[in-house]
Amino acid sequence: TDYRNDIRPNWCPGCGHYGVQAAITDAVTQLDISPEKLAVISGIGCSSRIGGYFYAYGAHTTHGRALPYAQGVKLANQDLEVVVCGGDGDAFAIGMGHTIHAFKRNVNITYVVMDNHVYGLTKGQTSPRSDIGFVTKTSPHGSFESPLPICETAIAAGATFVAQGYMINRAELVELIKQGMQHEGFSFINVFSPCVTYNKRNGYDYFKENLTSLSKIEGYDPSNRAEALKTLGDYQGLLTGLIYEDTTKPCFEKALADANGGPHARALVHDVVKPDATMFQGLCDEFK
Ligand code: SF4
Ligand code: MG
Repeated sequence: TDYRNDIRPNWCPGCGHYGVQAAITDAVTQLDISPEKLAVISGIGCSSRIGGYFYAYGAHTTHGRALPYAQGVKLANQDLEVVVCGGDGDAFAIGMGHTIHAFKRNVNITYVVMDNHVYGLTKGQTSPRSDIGFVTKTSPHGSFESPLPICETAIAAGATFVAQGYMINRAELVELIKQGMQHEGFSFINVFSPCVTYNKRNGYDYFKENLTSLSKIEGYDPSNRAEALKTLGDYQGLLTGLIYEDTTKPCFEKALADANGGPHARALVHDVVKPDATMFQGLCDEFK
C-alpha cells in the first residue's frame, strides 16, 4: 500500500519528524491497514503537519484539540484505526487537559507525540518538556522550570500503554507503534524527534549519548507499575521501549457497552448524536 500523497513535507532539512513519518508508514504497512481504514488526526505545530502528508483520512484540527476530535472519530466509526499526532507543546501545554483525560479514559486509539522539547513552529520558545538551563527567546537566562515527567504522569493518570521511542532507532519505534496500535485501549508513544533549527541543546548527539533502550535492562517487566515508575526515575525519563502496559483495564468503548447492557458503543453514540441534514441546516440558519 502506498500511503504517500503528492504533498511534500515542508519541515526543515534534518528535522526528526521525517523519521517519525517514515516509522508510522512502516507500521501501518506492516500491519496491512488500508488507507480507507486509517485516520491520522493532528493538532497544531510543525509535527502536526504530518496528517496532511498521509494518503488516508485525516484532520488537522486546532491547537491542543486533536485528542477530543480523534476520540470522537473512533467512537463514531470503530472500524477505523485512529492515529493521533502532535508535538510536546500541543500535547502537554495547550492540550494537557485533554491529554490527562485521554490517559484515564482509554479510548482505543494511538497517540504519537513528537517531543523535541521546544516550540518549533512559533520559532523557538520553551515547552513543558524543556530542560532546566535551556536558553530561548522566552528564557534568555535559561529555563528554570523542571521538565514535565510525561511518562510518569501518564502512568499516574491511568494510561494503559506508555512507550517511548527515538526516531533514529527506526526498528524499535516501528515495533512500538505496531504494538500500540494492537493494544486495546489508549496507547501513548512519546517520540524523541530533534528540532535542528531551534533546539541545539537536545540534538542527535544528545539523544545518542543519553538514551537507554529498555531492551538493555535485563528482566524488565512492563506490566509492573512500580518498576516502571522506579526505572523512569532512575534514568530521568531518558528511556526507549515499552515502559508500561496494562492489559486488564477494558477500553472505553467496551466499558461503555458493558455499562449499558451490552449494545455496541457505536449504536449508543449514534442514538445520542443522530446527525441529520436538517439539524445542521437549522444551525446554519441560526447563525446567518
Ligand atoms: Fe522541525 Fe524544528 Fe524545523 Fe519545525 S522548526 S520543521 S520542528 S526542525
Ligand atoms: Mg515541540
